[in-house]
Amino acid sequence: MSGEVATTKKPVPAADELSRPFWDAAREGRLVIQRCSACGYYNHPPRNFCDACLARDLAFAPVSGRGAVFSFTVMHQRDVAGFENDAPFINIVVELAEQPMLLMVANLPIGERERVRIGAPVEVCFEDRGDGVVIPQFRII
Ligand SMILES: [Zn+2]
Repeated sequence: MSGEVATTKKPVPAADELSRPFWDAAREGRLVIQRCSACGYYNHPPRNFCDACLARDLAFAPVSGRGAVFSFTVMHQRDVAGFENDAPFINIVVELAEQPMLLMVANLPIGERERVRIGAPVEVCFEDRGDGVVIPQFRII
């Protein structure tokens, strides 16, 4: 038996007023992060006020899409809705180049298991999930 199990549709983000610019940019193949106009600090996920200085003057700014693997784990469980037949795969946390502790989460295919390590350089790529939903992901470079 291959262990193939019934799969469900992958979850998609529910964009809200705060996060909509992030998802709109992703649909255009651009990575943008909310940035404080007062102090320049990047906030992710987007907030109502800046984590660094509490200012409310926030806008989305393009970032390089470059970063490094901050942490990772191999996911073996096959009971996550939409990912039943993807397991095993690799969950990664990426620290973007623009700022220490500016973190995003993403997945890598299990084929990258030999290459993934803390500090591995990555760049953004975009996964089209259909119905106008595009997810920023990362690949090791
Ligand atoms: Zn600020």
